[in-house]
Amino acid sequence: MDLRYDEEHERFRGEVREFLKGWPLQDDEAALSETEQIELFRSRAIERGYVYRDIPAEYGGGGQEPDVLKDHIVREEFSRAGAPGSSYLQGPAMLAPTLIEFGSEAQRRRFVPPTLREEIRWCQGYSEPGSGSDLASLQCSAVLEGGESDGEWVINGQKIWTSNAQEADWLFGLFRTEPDATKHKGISYLLVPLDQPGIEIRPLRQMTGGEDFNEVFFENARTAADCIVGQRGQGWQVSRATLKHERNLIANPNLMREHFDDLVELARRVLRNGRPAIEDPGVRQRLAEIECHVRTNETSNLRQLSAAHRGEELKCMLPMMMNKLYSTDSMQRLMKLAYELLGSDGLLAPREADLAGYARGEGPTGWVEQWIFSLGPAIAGGATNIQLNIIGERGYGLPRDLRPTS
Ligand SMILES: Cc1cc2nc3c(=O)[nH]c(=O)nc-3n(C[C@H](O)[C@H](O)[C@H](O)COP(=O)(O)OP(=O)(O)OC[C@H]3O[C@@H](n4cnc5c(N)ncnc54)[C@H](O)[C@@H]3O)c2cc1C
Repeated sequence: MDLRYDEEHERFRGEVREFLKGWPLQDDEAALSETEQIELFRSRAIERGYVYRDIPAEYGGGGQEPDVLKDHIVREEFSRAGAPGSSYLQGPAMLAPTLIEFGSEAQRRRFVPPTLREEIRWCQGYSEPGSGSDLASLQCSAVLEGGESDGEWVINGQKIWTSNAQEADWLFGLFRTEPDATKHKGISYLLVPLDQPGIEIRPLRQMTGGEDFNEVFFENARTAADCIVGQRGQGWQVSRATLKHERNLIANPNLMREHFDDLVELARRVLRNGRPAIEDPGVRQRLAEIECHVRTNETSNLRQLSAAHRGEELKCMLPMMMNKLYSTDSMQRLMKLAYELLGSDGLLAPREADLAGYARGEGPTGWVEQWIFSLGPAIAGGATNIQLNIIGERGYGLPRDLRPTS
């Protein structure tokens, strides 16, 4: 495996580094609010074609030819500089590229630019109380009233685990529109405005103490007929595109590197037997093991990128799933060590741990909360057992596991 970049990509990296000297903002611009600074810098990065790189300029993106290596270089350099790059929110990260792939021209023009600017906030409505791993069994229904151009979808049923629905304006989700078709072919992908009387959002309290997930109830909720992405019954296929972006998001190696750097910093700050924990041979050993995981994750990500760069989409799918699996496991190890390093302070409830000064950077989330939360991504975007099955069956050619019959 040759991990060197060619001349063109090395030159590109140099340009990006040069551009990043403009972050943090200086002088008058440094006096702007944090949100304004992020918006200003991000808009400059879009203009330069670094952020939302291959989303066409007419939809508010960088308007560049797709190049996975350049994407990777941008993510790596922005992460290293702590600069605001492409947003990790579900709208910009997952829906916008899906609309570019499957949306109508009108949908792209209407939704992609304000989504990238975070003026429309989105949540993802896939899971239902009885349909998580077996997502295709979902029951939440949408019936078309009126014509395909001027009618409305009338929605009834329930979604669950809808992250950030409490802050979202719209939901992209899967609904059963063809009850007589087989289960995968009876689903459509709809965009639904949340601010309407037929929708109730109830928060779910999680063990971190936060309320990031919700139940969303639909009772004769409505959305316009043209808010369907792709064709009727094509929702499963459209949702696979979104899922691909979600798994890549979860497996982000730069994020793990950032957390690892923070962990090393924590090991320098906290004491063990009266000395900085980082001087303890046991702690050093654990840090070294975790760094191996971080590096493996980075290298495995490069393998996925190389396959994508060569246009080998299928060869890319399996490493992508393995990366998701591996990175969630590694992140748990990383957070567990942080939790242990906190000693008795780790027994504090998450919000109290914030107050004790263990917050990561300026953010409101403490290590304790992150340790508890690190268990979740192994379930989100497809639970570990299911991923293992797919890797076993498609990667190693093992016999298919039993499938639900309904
Ligand atoms: C952090 C987080 C964020 C999420 N955000 C969203 C969101 O924004 N929108 C959304 O729609 N959903 C979201 N989800 C829900 C997520 O997609 C589901 O939790 C996931 O698909 C698993 O479904 P389930 O919870 O119903 O578990 P189940 O499907 O009931 O699974 C329970 C357990 O059984 C195992 N299992 C199930 N079937 C099999 C099988 N055939 N073979 C072997 N083992 C099996 C699973 O691996 C798991 O361990 C989120 C979940 C988490 C944790």
